[in-house]
Amino acid sequence: MSGGFLVVIEHDRGTMADASREALTFGRSLATQLGTTCEALLIVDESLADECARYGAETVHVVPVDWLTDYSPEVCGDAIAAAAQELSPAGIVACGTDRGNEMLAHAAAVLDLPFVANCLDVKVADDWEMTRVQWGGSLNEDAALTSPTPIVSIAHHAVEAAEAPVATNVSTLNLELDQSGLRTQITDRDVVEGGVTLATAPVVVGGGRGVGSQEGFAALEELAKELGGVVGCSRAVTNNGWRPHSDQVGQTGTRIAPQLYIACGISGAIQHWVGAKAAKNILAINTDASANMVTKAGYSVIADLHEMLPAITEEVRRRRS
Ligand SMILES: Cc1cc2nc3c(=O)[nH]c(=O)nc-3n(C[C@H](O)[C@H](O)[C@H](O)COP(=O)(O)OP(=O)(O)OC[C@H]3O[C@@H](n4cnc5c(N)ncnc54)[C@H](O)[C@@H]3O)c2cc1C
Repeated sequence: MSGGFLVVIEHDRGTMADASREALTFGRSLATQLGTTCEALLIVDESLADECARYGAETVHVVPVDWLTDYSPEVCGDAIAAAAQELSPAGIVACGTDRGNEMLAHAAAVLDLPFVANCLDVKVADDWEMTRVQWGGSLNEDAALTSPTPIVSIAHHAVEAAEAPVATNVSTLNLELDQSGLRTQITDRDVVEGGVTLATAPVVVGGGRGVGSQEGFAALEELAKELGGVVGCSRAVTNNGWRPHSDQVGQTGTRIAPQLYIACGISGAIQHWVGAKAAKNILAINTDASANMVTKAGYSVIADLHEMLPAITEEVRRRRS
């Protein structure tokens, strides 16, 4: 008999990935469709059980692995597979991040089951029907999945994390995991203390080729600082060596979902748009009224960014004071 619907939690030494809250929210809705419970799988760290309960996990299964400190795709994949064999879940989901997809891919291979990555929407039926993101977000594909234990990941930012606190049972799953599975290991960690990242910032001020130079980004930095945000950029900018690749927004960069994205001198090519479209509000500053970013943005200013940015920063300061 099938058990609950299992949500695999991604965390880094006890810090839950934001995307896992989205996965729990999504898992809850699938559990409701299936008429079963939403359950969480926590590998190594049980300190996140309360957080799982806050997002609706009625049972939290903790897998202790005393020889594992950091994320390991193979060990996590083995743990998910062994937990699935033990619990017979109605389905398994994780967030569609690099790590979430990697863990599920390993688990699916061990279980010899199909895995559908980066779903936007899933309908539960005899065969599950889903829409999933392909080609870095520039194509949505409808698919059907036939499997005794469907395994899916939910695309990052496809659902909004919503709290739904429940009383939870914490159960320990003592699984026999082989230490020889520890093949890919993290060998170095560079921890950024404090501050916000491009992926989680509430405000992103993005610059494109229209900024014109590395020095031109000083005006974007100033505005971002005033608004408590960070600077992002397009690939034209990283190609020119004006900003590091870690600042790039888009298909081959970071997907952002801020409250506000201010896109300055960015045309809005599809590869950039797929990384920016989850922003709640977009303000485009561009000299070209027909630029894709301008036509898609909720707000736009047709102007030279070199004049507009200092004026906005000044106005923000004036209103604050
Ligand atoms: C496989 C692949 C993956 C890719 N991945 C990414 C990705 O992850 N992220 C990404 O960004 N791109 C990506 N690209 C590149 C993408 O196709 C575009 O080439 C790139 O996004 C264009 O950058 P841009 O908008 O800065 O430059 P442009 O397209 O040249 O646009 C510059 C804009 O600035 C405006 N402008 C100029 N001067 C001013 C001014 N003074 N004031 C205001 N506006 C001004 C112009 O009107 C124009 O709209 C990828 C491409 C490929 C093929």
